[in-house]
Amino acid sequence: MLIDPHVHLETFSTDEIEEIMNRANNAGIAGVISAGVDLKTSKKSIKLSKKFTNIFSGVGIHPMNIPKDLNEEIFLEIHNLALNSEKVLVISEIGLDFTGDISNRKNQFDVFRQQIRIALELKLPIVFHSRESHQEVLRILREEKAYEVGGIMHYFQGDENIANQAINLGFYLSFAKPLLRYPHLQKIISNLNLNKIIVETDTYPQRFKTNRNKWTEPKDLVLIISKISEIKKMPFNEIEANIHNNLKSLLKNKWHIIDKYLIDN
Ligand SMILES: [Zn+2]
Repeated sequence: MLIDPHVHLETFSTDEIEEIMNRANNAGIAGVISAGVDLKTSKKSIKLSKKFTNIFSGVGIHPMNIPKDLNEEIFLEIHNLALNSEKVLVISEIGLDFTGDISNRKNQFDVFRQQIRIALELKLPIVFHSRESHQEVLRILREEKAYEVGGIMHYFQGDENIANQAINLGFYLSFAKPLLRYPHLQKIISNLNLNKIIVETDTYPQRFKTNRNKWTEPKDLVLIISKISEIKKMPFNEIEANIHNNLKSLLKNKWHIIDKYLIDN
């Protein structure tokens, strides 16, 4: 059973979400975890999880979506959304991003730390974003003891050194479609223990691609796993089983929720 642990379906129309999930199911993807990037999309992801059996939810504030009038209230809201919704499985998407305006970096650190604390309190793993900020992200993870809940360094694009540091801290690395085209990522995978690998698509509406068929969707997990199978010279099914087990051990406290919706129904 394959699950895409990181997508953003909130801004697609309901009709489109139905089509995307049908295509995913036809490709063997049983479910997805759809992550919010702010309060509005976090609430929307919970709504979607109530409407669709095979959609689970992540709630969180992305470093690029921190409100200008940031106040403590927002953390209480994220906490309560996660606490009161059965299908919230992770605190996501959170992290640091140093590519843009540097004026809000102090807020980025605060928001990242506070959300790790929520994750620790609720015993939910985190799915974190790191762009041009790897050392700082790793430092915060260490200082906040985020390894106690564990999580996924999502859309991994770092080098071997960063990969090893994240793994040594107890996190999984998640690879997405860049693995299909970047030799440096392929090289990292070739040396990486299968027990540390997760795959995701980070699906969102890619309006910059005029051909709708080329938009990334959860069904593309199959391409990523095929690539890993090719690099590692191991059967697809074996890679798939490993990735499944990795996700299962990450979501250990919440796996019964996945079982409840994907098997019982
Ligand atoms: Zn994302």
